[in-house]
Amino acid sequence: MSIRIAIDGPAGAGKSTIAKEAARRLSVIYVDTGAMYRALGLYFMRKGLDLHDEAAVSAAVPETSVTIGFEAGEQQVLLNGENVNGLIRTLEVGEAASVTSSYGAVRAHLLELQRDLARRHSVIMDGRDIGTTVLPDAELKIFLTADVRIRAKRRFDELAAKGVSTTLEQVEAEVRERDERDMNRAVSPLRQAEDAAVVDTSVLSIGEATAVICALANERAKERGLTV
Ligand code: C5P
Repeated sequence: MSIRIAIDGPAGAGKSTIAKEAARRLSVIYVDTGAMYRALGLYFMRKGLDLHDEAAVSAAVPETSVTIGFEAGEQQVLLNGENVNGLIRTLEVGEAASVTSSYGAVRAHLLELQRDLARRHSVIMDGRDIGTTVLPDAELKIFLTADVRIRAKRRFDELAAKGVSTTLEQVEAEVRERDERDMNRAVSPLRQAEDAAVVDTSVLSIGEATAVICALANERAKERGLTV
């Protein structure tokens, strides 16, 4: 049997960097569910929909097909057959994903894809509701978090490195707003699963956090006789 590792937490805690490296070390597949919500957000933006109009967005959901491929171990997100990996990492698309991921029709559309990937492979899956909703019986659940100011600074540095002009205050305000929305939505809000281990990257480096998660995964696999 394979292992399923769920990593949830707020934006900017280091989930994707840590999950990607842990997946490499454990030789399992890294599934980035945020990228799937981003792909749908991009679709709704391109279509010119009012993202706050839940009925209009929900009506467009059946027009979309999100699939996942892997190239040299990197997840590739295909939106209606088009590889959109290079288009979904902007602030705008993140906002579109954050707004539209609160709609039940959007979440239901991606849920089966996510569960199916975990049925077929050993996975580290990251997102907001993996341990609580997508894989409630995952063998290992991690809640990865960090102080909001530290998360905002990381996002800011990332954007600055890409040449995006913004201020730390603006990024921090957006991170707070995103947290607020992710934690307070009615469907699948971001929250810590009761049986999740908390890993705080305000006090641990990315390397240390990765090592903690790999150690926990190996321990859990050994206990349960699973292959990682
Ligand atoms: O993690 P990332 O910033 O790429 O996610 C973009 C947005 O998608 C998040 O702000 C969140 O609202 C949404 N999301 C979600 N559930 C997940 C993953 C992401 O609602 N499992």
